[in-house]
Amino acid sequence: MSLSKTKGVVLRTINVGEADRILEIFTDDRGKLRAVARGVRKIRSKLAGHLEPFTYVDLLLAKGKGDLPVIAGAKALSHYQGIRTDLDRVAVASYLSELVGKLNADEDVSRQVLSLVRAAFSALEGGYEPRLVADYYQWQAITLAGLRPDLYACVECGRKLFPNELAFSPGLGGVLCKECVAVDAEAIAVSPEAIKLLRAFTERPFAEASGILVRAPVRKEVSNLLERLVHHHLEREPKSRRFLDLVGK
Ligand SMILES: [Zn+2]
Repeated sequence: MSLSKTKGVVLRTINVGEADRILEIFTDDRGKLRAVARGVRKIRSKLAGHLEPFTYVDLLLAKGKGDLPVIAGAKALSHYQGIRTDLDRVAVASYLSELVGKLNADEDVSRQVLSLVRAAFSALEGGYEPRLVADYYQWQAITLAGLRPDLYACVECGRKLFPNELAFSPGLGGVLCKECVAVDAEAIAVSPEAIKLLRAFTERPFAEASGILVRAPVRKEVSNLLERLVHHHLEREPKSRRFLDLVGK
């Protein structure tokens, strides 16, 4: 039997058959992969505790009969147990997991993406405000996928952007200057403070960015903008978005 080792974060699990699960895992050496965990829903399964969603796990994979590898061994390296004690944190972790899974094609190999997910989970566990974690790391995920809007040049004409009278175009996935705003009837006005916060998200580590004092309406504005941007790139709303919105109410 050919075996291989990898490490990764469990993004989500899907129940199949009587006691099995298919796991979607973002690994450090082969990007996103799916693998089968046999018998993992049985009470006495030794693997079960190591393969919960959000767990960072050391895996031993065996070639299965079907297309998917089978998990032959698993040892949790971090459980991120603190996420599971709070519904808001679970909602954000689920949302970020789905986003990373969708933004990154199966063959993509990226240690940076895995680091991003683990950093986001650590921040959630560390008690940072879940919505801030969601916004900051959404922006990083968009950036790593090469989809970050240019905050310094107009997406239409390329001219340097000045903080006043800017608009975000969900259709173009970028920021428009005041001369170009008419090219997208659905463009949304963006405040200079929102652009500033996104620039801070771009340039600063989370620990610093999370310390910036921002007025609640600006935070809301940035959240909405990110939601529109994600929707634009995925061409639909992530499934876990509804859960996130529901929990937030
Ligand atoms: Zn322009």
